[in-house]
Amino acid sequence: MTSSRIIRLILDLRRGGIADTRVLAAIERVPRAFFLPDAFQDQAYEDVALPIGHGQTVSQPSVVARMTQALDVPERGKVLEIGTGSGYQTAVLARLCRRVYTIERHQPLLFEAEHRLEALKIRNVTTRCADGSRGWVTQAPFDRIIVTCAAPIAPEALAAQLVDGGVMIVPVGDVGRDQRVLRVERQGDDYKVDELWTVRFVPLVPQAPPPIQPEARV
Ligand code: SAH
Repeated sequence: MTSSRIIRLILDLRRGGIADTRVLAAIERVPRAFFLPDAFQDQAYEDVALPIGHGQTVSQPSVVARMTQALDVPERGKVLEIGTGSGYQTAVLARLCRRVYTIERHQPLLFEAEHRLEALKIRNVTTRCADGSRGWVTQAPFDRIIVTCAAPIAPEALAAQLVDGGVMIVPVGDVGRDQRVLRVERQGDDYKVDELWTVRFVPLVPQAPPPIQPEARV
């Protein structure tokens, strides 16, 4: 049963060091299975990254939990997410803050994510199909920024869109190798950078994706 599988996942996350009860409660309330293709339903609550199409993956629940815990999302906060993907991390964030702004470069992925969020009646999310490495200037500043794809270097354009005291969590490093998850805190015109742990993410790709060929739609 799904609910017992979610509860087992929550217990595993607690054992793995996730102590923030708001984060655990948010994860408990988001059915990860709903964000996955049919072929991976049986693995939905296992601690594995899974394919979501277009060569992308939804992160492992333990990575989502650790990144979300490190983000320390304020209840009234405004959060920017780069890399909507399936919308799973977006849904978890939406349970924790006032509004999530999320950017995805693949239109079909974004379209599916929007439908899932709508079906789950999650309404405090604003989406955009664009290159997220530039952030979202017209909605800035943000209390928190989370990047769910690996950037080659800490993206300064994003850090500049934080409020003073705001925090960004971003994996940085080369693709195919371990990347360092950084916590960047804005302090006036300065940034305090701490390295949290290593992880493997799909890359942040700055250009727009190639247009979909008509035959690829069927
Ligand atoms: N958080 C997602 C997982 C994302 S995988 C989830 O919960 O499912 C990383 C995503 O980042 C992919 O969907 C990829 O298309 C997207 N991405 C990569 N580079 C990007 C960019 N420059 N701007 C926006 N999205 C980007």
